[in-house]
Amino acid sequence: GLEIRLASRPKGWPTQENFDVVEVEQPQPGDGELLVRNVWMSVDPAMRGRMNEGRSYVPPFEVGKALQGGAVGEVVAANVEGFQPGDFVLHYFGWRDYATFDAKHAVKVDPQVAPLSAYLYVLGMPGMTAYLGLADIAEQKEGDVVFISGAAGAVGSLAGQIAKLRGASRVIGSAGSAEKVRYLVDELGFDAAFNYHDGPVVEQLKAAAPDGIDVYFDNVGGEHLEAAIEVLNDFGRVAECGMISQYNNAEPKPGPNNLFKIVSKRLKLQGFIVIDHAHRKDQFFAEVGGWLRDGKISYQETVVEGLRNAPEAFLGMMRGENTGKMLVKISDA
Ligand code: NDP
Repeated sequence: GLEIRLASRPKGWPTQENFDVVEVEQPQPGDGELLVRNVWMSVDPAMRGRMNEGRSYVPPFEVGKALQGGAVGEVVAANVEGFQPGDFVLHYFGWRDYATFDAKHAVKVDPQVAPLSAYLYVLGMPGMTAYLGLADIAEQKEGDVVFISGAAGAVGSLAGQIAKLRGASRVIGSAGSAEKVRYLVDELGFDAAFNYHDGPVVEQLKAAAPDGIDVYFDNVGGEHLEAAIEVLNDFGRVAECGMISQYNNAEPKPGPNNLFKIVSKRLKLQGFIVIDHAHRKDQFFAEVGGWLRDGKISYQETVVEGLRNAPEAFLGMMRGENTGKMLVKISDA
């Protein structure tokens, strides 16, 4: 099968040149290991950070080695108790057709409960991020006005719907195209949405939130964060989930200029990383899984076919070509 390796570290925007597609011999599983045929893999903004040198909250990818990322596949051979060929597992050895790894890194998933790809989206890391960001970090309360940036993406599309289900009085989203804005309002039930390319974010946000906002779920950073600080009400709360507008900056850009308003408005901003919150998984599954089962959450996938096209899927996601979750279909289940 194929695997995709980091060929070189990008400066600024990554390109195809930073990836190598290589044919490899598949090692048989050793003691305690699984051999898995990958079916779906995720491309995530966090992978951009791991292409840089230096550890942030996970170690960087190594040049010349296969990349890593969330994937779901079928067990082909198991050299360990508790797994059998035909089981489906979630793991983080994406970017390859086949993966051989220690079974302790595999979590069984049930294709009867939800389609396999859902374990990389609604019932997976993006869903958990959206849920925790609102419930635990932003402490979203009933009646809050909630603003979500990156609202048509994987995390944002779920955060908007979850905010509504948790009793937000008004949910506002921003995204990068007129089509995405329509999707937010018509399909996902956002009360208002705007295209951040259409004009200054602060003006569009003020127009959409005449009574201000109480919670900001930040996926974007930069101008969006500055605008949110401007429009937040006293004692507002911000879940700092990500700052994708900054990830491809070759040089740091000037940041928000109005940070004193954090003091004057008694705001609370907190960053978080979903992997620290594993203890909340059961609650997440119960609540979001329930909404999903009851048809209260709708979701859209943007699917790129073929492992070979995974670098293009990743680059496309960074450019905003996805609505909902960007996924790579590696093989049939
Ligand atoms: P998305 O599915 O949202 O895909 C990324 C989107 O970002 C694109 O579709 C694009 O949509 C938007 N985007 C790209 N560049 C810009 C820009 N300059 N300004 C505004 N929007 C931009 O990805 P995810 O849902 O996986 O991730 C969303 C955010 O959440 C990221 O910041 C990510 O790092 C973060 N994250 C954090 C986690 C945590 O534990 N803290 C876990 C998972 C994700 P558009 O067309 O609207 O521009």
